[in-house]
Amino acid sequence: MGLDLSELRRLRQAFHKFPELGFQETETKAKIAALLRQWGLEVHEGVGVVGILRAGQGNRAIGLRADMDALPIHEASQHDYVSQNPGVMHACGHDGHTTMLLGAAQALAADPGFSGTVVFLFQPNEELGLGAQAMLDEDVLGRFPIEEVYAIHNLPGAPVGQISTRNGLICSSESLFEISITGQGGHASMPQAGRDALTIGSEIVLALQTIVARKLAPGAGAVISVTEFLTDGQRNVLPGTAILKGDARARSPEDRNQIETLMRQIAKGIASAHGVNVEVDFKTEFIETINAPTPTEAAIRVAQKAGFDTVADRDPMSFSEDFAHFSAAVPGCFLLLGNGETGPHGQPLHSNDYDFNDALLPIGAEFWTHLVRDRLPVQDKG
Ligand SMILES: [Zn+2]
Ligand SMILES: [Zn+2]
Repeated sequence: MGLDLSELRRLRQAFHKFPELGFQETETKAKIAALLRQWGLEVHEGVGVVGILRAGQGNRAIGLRADMDALPIHEASQHDYVSQNPGVMHACGHDGHTTMLLGAAQALAADPGFSGTVVFLFQPNEELGLGAQAMLDEDVLGRFPIEEVYAIHNLPGAPVGQISTRNGLICSSESLFEISITGQGGHASMPQAGRDALTIGSEIVLALQTIVARKLAPGAGAVISVTEFLTDGQRNVLPGTAILKGDARARSPEDRNQIETLMRQIAKGIASAHGVNVEVDFKTEFIETINAPTPTEAAIRVAQKAGFDTVADRDPMSFSEDFAHFSAAVPGCFLLLGNGETGPHGQPLHSNDYDFNDALLPIGAEFWTHLVRDRLPVQDKG
């Protein structure tokens, strides 16, 4: 027996009311750990919370991940469980992901129907892309080995309860870059005496666009955006320094590495042509999330067999996801779950009037239980 909908809703709305930012999920973690213990799971608390549920004689293990963190957004919603932590909001539905996974843990603890080990991974700090690695740094996969790992994210704008995924790349990587040009400032009326960093920076901005347009294959799905151009110029002062900042997205590690290499090459080449110094900082915040064939086929088959509205080959998502670190370590599948198309449920993730759809709580929990029983079948003695 699982939690009933009203209990799940109460739990989700309580998480929503007291959101916590990444690596500050103290109360959220305490609540999760207490519930898991209450249901008889073995609980390990570190930067995140790990719940272990064993049943039968099977020696296979799978991992299910939920994220716990909220965002630095001031909630604009009117409902009666509006955030009580000013400036912090569950605007990405992680309150719902956590509750769906708790619902599954409770249901499976009460009535396993599987043979093996389920490792419930509640990760901190998904939003800044730091939490999964922090759990891996605690050797969570060494201490609790799993053969497959799964995660669900809600998706506003898609029909309520629709499960969608795809084999291969599902979410892009995100890298932040900063290009610092050091020339020579001077008088705006005497450019020959300076080395104007702004003109050189402009050349770099345009040249960076040739990476996607001319160096990567058409349809590679990469994006390079220079989003800030800062100089020390004034009304009559030519700038001697310029800083370009931006964001690059890629759909494969090869393309990401290619972007970094070409970016350095272009910046250095242009700087050298003009006799100025340049430094390029390129930092990948999120790696690509790649779905592996076996868990992806399994998740699709389970969803279809259990009668969920299922899309087996959706388009890749444009956002990035910290689950990528788990699915880079263990074959994994990242799934999207339609949050609804209208009202707060249809508002984009990270908007201040978005809300997780409570109708997904039993759907998500039910999908998890079906998946566990399929991947760790009772007749499987390992
Ligand atoms: Zn988010
Ligand atoms: Zn999210």
